[in-house]
Order: sequence, then C-alpha cells, then structure tokens
Amino acid sequence: MRVTFLGAAAVVFGAWNTGCVTSAPPSSSPAEDRPPNIVIIFSDDLGYGDLGAYGHPTIVTPHLDRMAAEGQRWTSFYSQAPVCSPSRAALLTGRVHLRSGMFGREQGVFFPDSHYGLPDDEVTLAEVLKDVGYATGIVGKWHLGHQPEYRPMRHGFDSWFGIPYSNDMDRQLPPGVERSEATFNPLSDYWYVPLMRNDEEIERPADQTTLTKRYTEEAVAFIQAHRDEPFFLYVPHSMPHVPLFRSDAFAGRSAAGRYGDVIEEIDWSVGQILHTLEREQLAQNTLVVFSSDNGPWLAYRQHGGSAGLLRDGKGTTWEGGTRVPGIFWWPDTIEPGVVRDIGATTDLFSTVVTLAGGSVPSDRPIDSFDLSPVLFGHESSPRDSMAFYRRGQLFAFRTGPYKAHFITEGAYGSGPERTEHHPPVLFHLGDDPGENHNIATDRPDVVAAVVAAADKHRAAMTVAEPLFDVRGEP
Ligand code: MG
Repeated sequence: MRVTFLGAAAVVFGAWNTGCVTSAPPSSSPAEDRPPNIVIIFSDDLGYGDLGAYGHPTIVTPHLDRMAAEGQRWTSFYSQAPVCSPSRAALLTGRVHLRSGMFGREQGVFFPDSHYGLPDDEVTLAEVLKDVGYATGIVGKWHLGHQPEYRPMRHGFDSWFGIPYSNDMDRQLPPGVERSEATFNPLSDYWYVPLMRNDEEIERPADQTTLTKRYTEEAVAFIQAHRDEPFFLYVPHSMPHVPLFRSDAFAGRSAAGRYGDVIEEIDWSVGQILHTLEREQLAQNTLVVFSSDNGPWLAYRQHGGSAGLLRDGKGTTWEGGTRVPGIFWWPDTIEPGVVRDIGATTDLFSTVVTLAGGSVPSDRPIDSFDLSPVLFGHESSPRDSMAFYRRGQLFAFRTGPYKAHFITEGAYGSGPERTEHHPPVLFHLGDDPGENHNIATDRPDVVAAVVAAADKHRAAMTVAEPLFDVRGEP
C-alpha cells in the first residue's frame, strides 16, 4: 500500500502505485572511488509516442530502445512545463519555474529581444556539480536568456556550443516566401539564429542541417577530453523543434518522413554518446538520462511529433503537453525495468546532486525529489503529484492516478478557447491515460481531495516577478 502525502486522502487514492521494479538491488553500488559522470540528453518538442521504446510503429530508435531495455523506462515522467524556457529552468534549478520568474503572463518563452534571463541568484545543477569538482559542458540550445549575463557560462558551465534560443526565431524570410512554405521546406537562411562557442558567435545564421551532427561531435569530444575527471554533460538538442533539419546522411531515411529522419538522427547521436562512454570505459560510472522539454508541437501536423495515446501536445496542460519519455541508463547499477511511478525532469536536480555527493541548496524551496532509490530498484518514487502550469497559472493538478483540470485551453490560441471548470474536470490516468472520460460527477470525494492537494501546493508556491513579458525597447 502506498501512502500519499495527503494523509487521510490516501484512503481515496489507495494502492495505485504498483509499477516500481521490485527485484533485489544490483550487486554493484554507485561509484565508490569517483562520483558518477552525468549526461542529460534533452530533446526539444519530442513527444511521448515518438520512440520505438514508447510504441512508435515506424520511427526506428535502436539506441534509445537499448537504453530503455538495459536501464529504466518511465511511463509517467513529466517535464515541468509545456514549453521550452520554463521547462529548462526547472530542469537546471530543481524548482517550479514560478519561483525563478521563468514565466510570463503574456509570453510563454524567451525571444531574441527579451531583456531578461535566468536570474543570477538561481543555483543551477551545473553550479552545484562544479562546486564538487565536476567539469561542466552544455552542447545545444540554452533558451534561458541570450544576453551575456544570462548565458550558460554565467550559470556554471565551463563550455557551450550551441544556439541561444529556439531555431525558429530571428525569422528573415525573403520576399515571396510565406511562413508555411518556410516551415515545411526550410532553409537555414530563413532564420538568423546565431551559433555560439562559449561567449563567441561563430556562425550566423547557423547551418541547421548539421546541428545535430555537430552537437554529437562536440559531445563526444567533451567526453574524451574529460575522461579522467567527473563530468556533467548537458545535451539539449535543437531538434525536433520546427523547422526540422537533419544532415544529408539522414535525409529521406525514415519511413516516418522528415520528422522520423530527425528523430533517427537524434537516436544515432545517442548511440555515438553511448559508444564513446563504452570505448572510454566510462559506461559503468556514468548515468545517462534521455527526456524531452515538452510534448509534440501538433499544429505542425506531420512536422510535429506524437504524444501517442495521450491527449493534445505542446503548450497545453493535457498529458500530451508534458508527459514525455524518461529513460535512465547506467549499466550494472540501474535496476532495469519499466517504472510507472511519477517522476519529473525537475527531479533530476536532486537525483544528480545526491549521486554526485553535492548539497541541495537549503536556503530556498526546492521542488525536486531524489529518484535514485527508484533507479537502484529499492523503492517507489517519492513523487506522487504533479502541478501543471500555463502562463504562471495552475491549470491542473495530479495526485496519484487522478488529475483535475481547473482550466483548459488549446495550444497557442488555436482552440479550444480557455475554459474555467467549476467543478474541475477529473480523469483517472490509470484506466484513462488519454483523458477522455470525465469522472468528476461520479467521484466528488476525489475532486475534493485533489482540489485540497492543489490548494496546499498553491499556498506553498513562492512566485517571483514574471520575466518573459519584457521585450523590445524598454
Ligand atoms: Mg520545446
């Protein structure tokens, strides 16, 4: 029987959580001599249903499938937010993004004319790991402020190769090229996106056709350069965020079209990283995590991915907006299996800090749970709830298998329109993961319990000034 934090409400939720692996712990323990290396591979807008290991019928992902088979594949793993910037802030700080001001009442993310970025007084995963002797590198998209004072180098990273914000920003279409034409038949020149090495702009516009390939080469070189010391490598891919680009070697290769090409190149990239770790004899001392910053961008049809049987996608607080693949790989240490407990990208902070022997900051609220006991097969997840925010407002709340929506809205104003629900709409995510059947009328007791849990969460949430809305000339 699992006991939820709701106390009396545990009676309502009962023993829902039986998905945790239960076999004996593996013989080897995490690093006695040296703390483990950490590699976090974070794709952009990749949906829950986009990998072979998560049931996609035509996208071929042997390397990610291998990670899942040899490690843990989580089926209730969430990004903290349904769009890029807040999701990345939560990953790197272990905090709900409202606490750091990484949201807007109007804007969902940072843009090339945004004034702010992740505040200096936030403590990032890179900073904590650097403090305990890790080499730290980011290869990929940052999206937490492009101004010099907000870039990765000011947030604990020793090195950066990548782009400062989304690959569809700085749009500069030539006369006669419509936006939809540019999106579905993209050329790198259509977006004046800079490619950075540390604080230097080295290419503009970035040749997007080779971004995944070059990120991979940089990631491999980083691992090789730091093989004799603990390292943290963060690889936030620019893809499969539209516009979709892939290198020539992958063009036309997938049965799933251009989107499939892009995912299969990311899968190749994952394979290169795993092979490098094995070749350098580092695999047994490295945790590799694969996830996504939010769900698929469905408005782009075949150029957007799939959330599988989950409802809706990026931008929304339906399950398809934030439930994403979560794969953990660490040979001979992680107990292989499928984990159906709740976890979140936000939890990577405390999990990794604990494994690295660092300290989770004690001077501020942290919303991150240490998942390592689950990874080692000893315990079920300490997380039993998830909050779903949009523009700084709590739209929905999950506790145990139940999720209540207080407000619903389609992605990016594409409809359905914003609707407040009194009483909330209620779904049981166990027997209805697609959120199709509202059971609020049948279960007023559960509605009351989830509302109480959401109220408790809201009351404990410290909310900073939203920083996304300040754009353009001051
Ligand atoms: Mg994204």
